[in-house]
Amino acid sequence: MATLIAHDEFNVYESAEARFEVAARRVGLEEGLYRFMRYPNKEITVYIPVMLDSGHLEVFTGFRVHHSIVRGPCKGGIRFAPDVTLDEVRALASWMTWKCAVVNIPFGGAKGGVICDPSKLSAGEMERITRRYTAELSDWIGPERDVPAPDLGTNEQTMAWVMDTYSMHLRHTVTGVVTGKPIDLGGSLGRHEATGRGLQIVCDKAVEKLGLRRETARVIVQGFGNVGSSATWLLHQAGYKIVGVADVHGALYNENGIDVPRLLDWVTVQGRSLPELPDGGLRLSSQQILFQPCEILVPAAVENQITSENAHRLQTRILCEGANGPCTAMADEIVDKKGIFVIPDILANAGGVTVSYFEWVQDRQGYFWREHEVNERLKDVMEHSFDEVVRYAETNEVSNRIAAYILAIARVASALKLRGIYA
Ligand code: NAD
Repeated sequence: MATLIAHDEFNVYESAEARFEVAARRVGLEEGLYRFMRYPNKEITVYIPVMLDSGHLEVFTGFRVHHSIVRGPCKGGIRFAPDVTLDEVRALASWMTWKCAVVNIPFGGAKGGVICDPSKLSAGEMERITRRYTAELSDWIGPERDVPAPDLGTNEQTMAWVMDTYSMHLRHTVTGVVTGKPIDLGGSLGRHEATGRGLQIVCDKAVEKLGLRRETARVIVQGFGNVGSSATWLLHQAGYKIVGVADVHGALYNENGIDVPRLLDWVTVQGRSLPELPDGGLRLSSQQILFQPCEILVPAAVENQITSENAHRLQTRILCEGANGPCTAMADEIVDKKGIFVIPDILANAGGVTVSYFEWVQDRQGYFWREHEVNERLKDVMEHSFDEVVRYAETNEVSNRIAAYILAIARVASALKLRGIYA
């Protein structure tokens, strides 16, 4: 197989391109289609004037990238973080295209971001940034155009403000403009923990495939936000032994198993610092936790955690990617050579966008499903997609990651050929 080359290992756009390149060549994509799919459909930069609580007028920079509308409206989160770049948003938008195609839901990919630090902003400032960002983008988003969702630094409340702002501009309530909304505003039951539930479903499949047992499978989760905390809880409930957890403040490792209900209460109810859980285990750094012995490692925090410099230190059987891009393209070969069974991000964390799709369907129907219906449909999609990716990888002797990319690229290419090029 061709080696993955990224000139700047930590540029996530280059990492995304490197995988696309290998998969596109392997699938024999025609040159014209290759060029079409490589570049985003549209990139929008907005400058967001916001009056801060201090009375100071600040201008924030925001982006929205539409990577593809070939298979349907584009779909992707909005990230509020101080280090957001256009390259990062581009990469995340293209991953959304491939992710939606891997699980075969009728969306293209998009992503948005605003350069700001939510930890330093009041609720009022967050609301004003969100509303002005939405107003600036109101010609480009909508249930048939582009449907945002939460990502790092944004949440259900942010989506409520996007929905309200968009609706005020249209003069009627449009719940389907965003997903990941509060339940009372047309959100879906099961959406909040959907990404974590999807991770648990594919871990179950991988454990079964490798002949492991849940009770003896040790799990480490890096990241304790929406994705990481839901995955930790659901994996614990399913009988796995959680031996390591981490957030931005540090990590805990406990080979006897971490007391997950006590940890969740400590962090999410009491608002205390994760590594300070009394008698929680050995305190390590958020990076060190990745290299402790386990059967399943779930990086569910940020990008570029596993690199060509450190991948040789991994001691896991299964790498289940909860975050987007936790492993750089240059680390892929090292991970594969170690025989680690990789469940790539565009498959592993697709539970979130799958239930977002269910939310969009329910909003458009005006008819809401019960939680067990949402969870059963999610299980069906995740299991089927896992089987397709692993079967393709085995039959064609490629990694699971490249198999996922190939399936996704082939689906987008097929839709593109059927539609043809307008004008
Ligand atoms: P979040 O903001 O709720 O949580 C992020 C967590 O990561 C926090 O616990 C934070 O402390 C921790 N963290 C940040 N930097 C860290 C570091 N350097 N080391 C260790 N921990 C660190 O975000 P989230 O929604 O849980 O998203 C996490 C990842 O999952 C992101 O890559 C996101 O793009 C991806 N993702 C999220 C969803 C979703 O539904 N929320 C869906 C698919 C993928």
